[in-house]
Amino acid sequence: EAILGTFIKPRPVIDYPKRLDGKHLHTSEIYNENVFSLKVMAKTLPKPVFASFLKQKRGRQKLDKYTADAVAHAARVWAMDRGATHFTHWFQPQNGTTAEKHDAFLTLLGVSLPTGEEAVPIDAFSGSQLLQSEPDASSFPSGGVRTTFEARGYTIWDTSSPMFIQDGPHGTSILYIPSVFISYDGFALDERTILLRSNEIINSAALQLLALIEPESHYNNITNTMGLEQEFFVVDRAMYSLRPDLKITGRTLIGNLPPRHQQLEDHYFGRIPSRVLQMISDFEIEALKVGIPLKTRHNEVGPAQFELAPSFEESSIAVDHNLLTMELLHKVAHRHGLRVLFHEKPFKGVNGSGKHCNWSLCSDRGDNFLDPTSRPENNYRFLIVLLAILKGINDYGPLLRASIACLANEHRLGAHEAPPAILSAFLGAQLNEVLDSIELDRPLRSFSVPQFQSIQVGGTILDLKVATLPAIHRDLTDRNRTSPFAFTGNKFEFRALGSKLSPSFTIAIINTVVAAAMLSIVEDFKAIKGDKPKLSDADKLTVIRKLIVETKRIRFEGDGYGQSWIDEATKRGLPIIKTSPEAFSHLNKEANIDMLVNKLGLFQKAELESRFIILNERYIKDLVIEGNTLTSIITQRILPAAFKYRKFLADSISTLKGIGADSSAETATLQKTDSLVSNLYKANQALDESVKYIEVQSPHAALEIEKLAYDANKHIFDKIEKVRYYTDALELCMADSEWPMPKYTELLLTL
Ligand code: ADP
Ligand code: MG
Repeated sequence: EAILGTFIKPRPVIDYPKRLDGKHLHTSEIYNENVFSLKVMAKTLPKPVFASFLKQKRGRQKLDKYTADAVAHAARVWAMDRGATHFTHWFQPQNGTTAEKHDAFLTLLGVSLPTGEEAVPIDAFSGSQLLQSEPDASSFPSGGVRTTFEARGYTIWDTSSPMFIQDGPHGTSILYIPSVFISYDGFALDERTILLRSNEIINSAALQLLALIEPESHYNNITNTMGLEQEFFVVDRAMYSLRPDLKITGRTLIGNLPPRHQQLEDHYFGRIPSRVLQMISDFEIEALKVGIPLKTRHNEVGPAQFELAPSFEESSIAVDHNLLTMELLHKVAHRHGLRVLFHEKPFKGVNGSGKHCNWSLCSDRGDNFLDPTSRPENNYRFLIVLLAILKGINDYGPLLRASIACLANEHRLGAHEAPPAILSAFLGAQLNEVLDSIELDRPLRSFSVPQFQSIQVGGTILDLKVATLPAIHRDLTDRNRTSPFAFTGNKFEFRALGSKLSPSFTIAIINTVVAAAMLSIVEDFKAIKGDKPKLSDADKLTVIRKLIVETKRIRFEGDGYGQSWIDEATKRGLPIIKTSPEAFSHLNKEANIDMLVNKLGLFQKAELESRFIILNERYIKDLVIEGNTLTSIITQRILPAAFKYRKFLADSISTLKGIGADSSAETATLQKTDSLVSNLYKANQALDESVKYIEVQSPHAALEIEKLAYDANKHIFDKIEKVRYYTDALELCMADSEWPMPKYTELLLTL
């Protein structure tokens, strides 16, 4: 009844924003309404201030005091017109979420004057408050950086990301200032700083490469574009509130699949349940207002699983918008009596949730470098960028694997639903044929697709010996959902990201490994160019051919979920990294440190070490929390329910025997319950002991922490599975009325 009480509560109806005449606003009119955008700045700032703001923003300089004061003033007036009472620096500490501390605009003038006069309350917001604030940083994960260097942390506005307002209490609002979070000595304590650095790194590497292959083009700036698709589950909040495992760990630690789940394949692109569609629509209104360019929404493969995708943007903005998407969905779902689950694998046996990183590079002229063109001469750039990505994956696959590693993602990777723990790339038949023909120096084989057959130069099928390239048709790219890194027509899609993970670190690693590959290609080109004024097409082909051969081992077109790929990858000598501690260990390898710290400067040495510690620590904590959650559920809920049920069976048997009735069914059930209960009891004890053993250790040095992460994996991971095994068997054998928590059927099939 308690469950139904919440379940049937009337849902709030939020009015879609309308004009005075009652007509719906167009989404383009809602878009950016709550953003202090360049357009708003142009309107509200004096012209010279706006011009100097733009100049400083483009040059990534810190704003001068005059400009900062003027921008702060305009932002406060704009925000207060929209009900703002507070402002907050909004940043991304290394705990996977965002952080904020609200500061009131209210300021008392004259409080410190010894005049005895009453202080005057005013609303104020200065340039220095806009630019920088000093939150108490000691409670964020730092992996030792702060203790080693300096205790204070600062948040500083990242002018590449606009300020925006979000709803506060009582119809008021709060001004958000997207910020980086660094220590006094300039050490990055957050995710955004690393991402911004990686953008600089890839910009510089790409410019050097392009200066060689297209000297006539004179690019000024190359940005990394990013479209982040987000998957998630939605469950009824009442059901959710009765599952401590979901509440504490984000996933169900026990539970059997209902007889019908996703096997009918009727969910993917099916109709979105109206209750969820209402919620999503409500979310979309809020998301559009803060400038999230939402594009698609659909049912995913699992029951109660959905996906949203925005249009792509510059990567740091795309990350802001992804984090906001998760926060807003969470908030809006609450209003609808629903709960959104971002965990990578909330339900065993059901499809897990990922976050797909669609990655490309774009010049200041707006051309996408991964867009193959029908003009062959432009495809040198396309092929070289493509091969730089393959080389990045080939040379630094384990780093990419480390960038997506966490406990939750371990349940998903390789579980026949997400790409396995092997980093490979899918290009599609057409591109493969292009690369093969260049490698083997033979003419292109014609394709069965009519457009492709018509690629001709001077009446014959192109012969690559003439050092020209074929036209490549984007629409001919086929799809392979089982590949972790897939070329999808005009971008690469990295699919191994977990749904909950903040994507900053992953994107930073992709940018940096591709930049490292580009710089090495730059060296190749320089060597071959010598004193010549420019590279010839034949020179370019020579390097292209070398890269094709070098990166061949990571190209894989087959089924990435099958055992045969694991066998094949082993033969090819590709790293197969199953656990997170194993993945993290690559962040601590000499060659990788050399690239990330010394050569490209993504991290300072202490930053990388601190990240290594934070990631391992987080892994240990997550496992300990899961272990403790499960043992408490077993001890306090499942076993007591089973004891009660056993007593009921035992009592029934003696009553039945007393009257001479047949008790064989009860006896058989009791025997089965008995054996499951004693096995469960033992498994639960063993898990409890392991968790306690891990919990009492207090490692300090990085290598000790790493070892403990391996130990935690070894001692806890499988024991959780074992406890689950007996519990799930018990669930199937006990009376439904005696089971102390909602089951998968209620969680997954009640929307
Ligand atoms: P699909 O996954 O079927 O390719 P879409 O073409 O709609 O679906 O793209 C998925 C995501 O890729 C969207 O978020 C989209 O904005 C993004 N995307 C498209 N082009 C680019 C690009 N050049 N750079 C980065 N992301 C892109
Ligand atoms: Mg996609």
